[in-house]
Amino acid sequence: MAALKLLPDAPVPLGDPVAPPSPSPQAVISAHDGPLAIPVAGIASGSVSDSWGDPRENGLREHHGTDIIAAAGTPVIAAAPGRIEKLWTSAAGGITLYVRSPKRTWLYYYAHLSGYAPGVHEGQVVKTGDPLGFVGDTGNAGTGNYHLHFGLTRTTPEQHWYEGRDVDPFPYLAGKPAAR
Ligand SMILES: [Zn+2]
Repeated sequence: MAALKLLPDAPVPLGDPVAPPSPSPQAVISAHDGPLAIPVAGIASGSVSDSWGDPRENGLREHHGTDIIAAAGTPVIAAAPGRIEKLWTSAAGGITLYVRSPKRTWLYYYAHLSGYAPGVHEGQVVKTGDPLGFVGDTGNAGTGNYHLHFGLTRTTPEQHWYEGRDVDPFPYLAGKPAAR
């Protein structure tokens, strides 16, 4: 069989061709579209400090979220509008609540609650400032260490409430609070 006439400069493939990475929806991180209201009644944005990345459990993991210190029983309110997707109790978070954004691309996570606001239920549509629960010390908050753990997670619309990628909410909490 006659040799093919190859151009002298024809590139020689090295090994298997590698397909260019196609961006998966999960890998796309975009900025949250707008500021978040401070989700604890009576707390000014200037008094909240950034606790993202702080060591937890003796450095075994990093803190993903913003801790907002407040007195026990202080109302916890929605930082952004959405729909309450899950009421959940876990060893780490204690009594928690997950709100999904209207486009289902963000999860807002409220943890260490002492309890839920009256009437709160899964499927409930909430707007910014609506009552969700009360500041507590449930889960691994530490007894008497009353604070709200607020988490922000980027998701695809199809992902579940326990999936997604955590994003530091602090820059959005530190911005101009959303209008009620
Ligand atoms: Zn926390």
